[in-house]
This record gives sequence, structure tokens and C-alpha cells, in this order.
Amino acid sequence: MGLKMVFYPDPRLREVSKAVMPEDMTQIRETVPRMFEVMYRQRGVGLAGPQVGFMRRIIVANLTADPQNKAEEKVFLNPQIRKKSGSMFEDEGCLSLPGITAKIRRAAGVKAVYFDVEGQMWEVDCEGLCAKLFQHEIDHLDGVLMIDKMSAADIKQFKPLLRELEEDYKAKREPKHRRNAVPTEL
Ligand SMILES: [Zn+2]
Repeated sequence: MGLKMVFYPDPRLREVSKAVMPEDMTQIRETVPRMFEVMYRQRGVGLAGPQVGFMRRIIVANLTADPQNKAEEKVFLNPQIRKKSGSMFEDEGCLSLPGITAKIRRAAGVKAVYFDVEGQMWEVDCEGLCAKLFQHEIDHLDGVLMIDKMSAADIKQFKPLLRELEEDYKAKREPKHRRNAVPTEL
């Protein structure tokens, strides 16, 4: 059975996801390939658990967005940002908010720690898209969405689209597929 994409304003996107525990690992191993499937189908570069209704602190990513490039597939369990540096203000797109692209203020670099599926802890220092990924996806694990960080002007501009997504949700319809202006959705 496949997993389904969760779209705004589904209340699951507002929940704080639970930490992955050792006893969750069987379920995690089963869920990881299905999360990658959804991510590739939506042509994203990263996906957080709540975006498929899996309320655990898990992120899958492939910054190349190329399903053939298995070497670039990463799974981050219980990720935490330990340090932020600098600042960027770049376009961002979210798979759970189809059609919305806006500039979001983020740290330009992060030091993050996480566990892999073998239970080994890693530390990573990264910038650019990788830094954006950690910040955007950890926000998802905390129930925070891009719209919470958008300017009032951007919110106003996208109000009709947000309304449409709200109508789709109410009618239990999958939102229209809208290509985002950014090629790297999260
Ligand atoms: Zn997102």
C-alpha cells in the first residue's frame, strides 16, 4: 500500500511529530522506501514524515531529485540543528502547499545532528539547499509551515490559492497539481 501526500490545511501538518525510538525501527524501514516513492512522484528533493501522515521525526531527501541516483538518498532520524550561521532569503516551495513559492528568511548554514537507520549518529555541516532542507523539514516535524514565515504581502498574494486548497480539503479532493516556480520543493 502506498502512502498519500498530506496537503494544507490538513491538521496533521500542525502536529509535533514524535521522536523515533528503537522499537519503531521495523516500521521506519518499511516506511522509508514508500516515502521516497511519494517524494519522487511529487518531484520533491525532501519530505518529512507528517507530509505523508507518518507522525515521526523522520526526513527523507535526495537533493539531486533523481530517482536513479540512489547514492544521494538520505534518511535523517531525529534531526536537530545545533548551530546556525549567516542568513539567506531565497525562494522556497513546499509539496504540501502546491503552487506557492515565496522568499523565506533562513540561516545560510547549519550544523545538524541526526541518526541513520542503523542507529548511528552523524553530524553534518552544510549550506545552501542542504541548509534549507534541514530548516524547512524540521519545521514540518514541529508543525510549522512556510506560510508562518511568509511576508504579509506574500500571504495576501497567495490568499486565493490558500482558499482553494482549503476548499479542496473540505471537499476531500486532491489539490490540482501545480508546478512550482522553484525546481526544488521540500
Ligand atoms: Zn514542505
